[in-house]
Amino acid sequence: RLGVAPARYATALDALRDVFGYDAFRGEQAAIIDQVAGGGDAVVLMPTGGGKSLCYQIPALLREGTGIVVSPLIALMHDQVDALVRNGVRAAYLNSSQQSFERAEVERAYLAGELDLLYVAPERLNTEPTLRLLERGRIALFAIDEAHCVSQWGHDFRPDYLALSGLAERWPDVPRIALTATATEATHKEITERLSLERAEHFVASFDRPNIQYRIAPKIEVRKQLLDFVKSEGRDADGNAVAGIVYALSRASTEKLADYLRQHGVDAMPYHAGLDAGVRRRTQERFLREDGVVVVATIAFGMGIDKPDVRFVAHVDLPKSVEGYYQETGRAGRDGQPATAWLAYGLQDVVQQRRMIDESPGDLAFKRRLTAHLDAMLALCETVSCRRQNLLAYFGQQSAPCGNCDTCLEPPASWDGTVASQKLLSTIVRLQRERGQRYGAGHLVDILRGKRTPRVEQYGHDSLATFGIGDDLSDPQWRGVVRQLLAQGLLQSVGEYGVLALTEASGAVLAGEHTVAFRTEPDRPVRGSSRRA
Ligand code: ADP
Ligand code: ZN
Repeated sequence: RLGVAPARYATALDALRDVFGYDAFRGEQAAIIDQVAGGGDAVVLMPTGGGKSLCYQIPALLREGTGIVVSPLIALMHDQVDALVRNGVRAAYLNSSQQSFERAEVERAYLAGELDLLYVAPERLNTEPTLRLLERGRIALFAIDEAHCVSQWGHDFRPDYLALSGLAERWPDVPRIALTATATEATHKEITERLSLERAEHFVASFDRPNIQYRIAPKIEVRKQLLDFVKSEGRDADGNAVAGIVYALSRASTEKLADYLRQHGVDAMPYHAGLDAGVRRRTQERFLREDGVVVVATIAFGMGIDKPDVRFVAHVDLPKSVEGYYQETGRAGRDGQPATAWLAYGLQDVVQQRRMIDESPGDLAFKRRLTAHLDAMLALCETVSCRRQNLLAYFGQQSAPCGNCDTCLEPPASWDGTVASQKLLSTIVRLQRERGQRYGAGHLVDILRGKRTPRVEQYGHDSLATFGIGDDLSDPQWRGVVRQLLAQGLLQSVGEYGVLALTEASGAVLAGEHTVAFRTEPDRPVRGSSRRA
């Protein structure tokens, strides 16, 4: 029996109140819903927690037919569909986790017009049988969630998203809405182009999360620093433990850190993709339902976790991109109450990530993009001005210093690094005259500090004019100079060997037209001597 799902509500407000139990729309929700319910396309950039789901769920209830939602995360799909069904919405999903009889039932319901919303994983949507199935029913709209996954150069590319451009040709009259919480201008443009959304109206919400306090600290002894942080942030006004997320890069370190925190009285649990599904589910449930649970996780944790009162997000390793950092920290304080985003990072993070980029599969252009992501993240870490201003500028949004980040609250000590920069940059200029040179930071520092290493002697670099002119700074200080110059865009690392080269902006520093300020770094413990008993 074929049928068409009827329009369930006459107005958006009726649907909002009746289905979701809310009184009023937030931000641009009403305008977005109008656009899509009226048959137009939309591109929506809205931060996590902004309320993107309603922007396609309500139009689907206002239009005849079934709203098709493309969503990349199967776990998320389950949760969303469950929540909708509890609210009386006729919703279902199609994905690879289902048995064939379950799929057959969903397909029957779709064709009979018994579904308001149908969630489909992109790899399933892109198959001819699914497309033919959809063609036999009536589609109210297409919603493409996590639309930044279409960006080949983004941090979360999924090849299946590229084929979604075909929806426009196959269903030219069905409105399409693409949504993401990742919103650099470049991603925005790519979403618009690759998903054929030329005629769409664009809705760009502010990415500011004023209740989140951003703090970035140099990594010295990270376990101890983390514990101090959790001890200081981990209680509410009544002295009860609060919920938080700690992100680490490796599975092993999530387990070690969770152990360490637990030994010190924190209710911490590890979470990563290598753990048994049942264990993961129980951890997630405890985190959602109980108070004061701290989850120490890889980035596998958090997508689609709708817990409004997460009080802190801590990163003990440098995120790979500002987009990722923003998305992860955005899980704090979704209830609008004060929350903290804390990050510790050191040169070791930079070295490790550059190595991971070098060793990653992918062509040179791809690696350059990863490097650019990393450099933007570093610039945020090294900035001597407002973190939030820097973060929002990355998303193309202008703002004034915020008064609620570490650099606003305690302006960092800085030193005039102009002369040091000139020494380093002019050494690079001299080395660039050599053909096929490929020297990294270590060799540069050796030259500046006047060390006659075998390599220095082999290439005759002890006869360079800059040999030994940098003995006023230590090796770690010089490495800090390199890192901060990279972060400020006054130096770049190019090619697969990460050769250091000048940028367009470096010339002004060499010519003395531009001064350079560096953050004063804390004294780092010398490797080996800081080992504790
Ligand atoms: P996003 O997908 O943008 O991260 P969600 O759609 O998950 O955000 O919404 C975040 C939270 O805000 C959810 O708990 C949702 O129910 C709630 N929410 C969304 N719109 C409204 C509204 N107009 N009024 C009150 N709460 C809302
Ligand atoms: Zn600030």
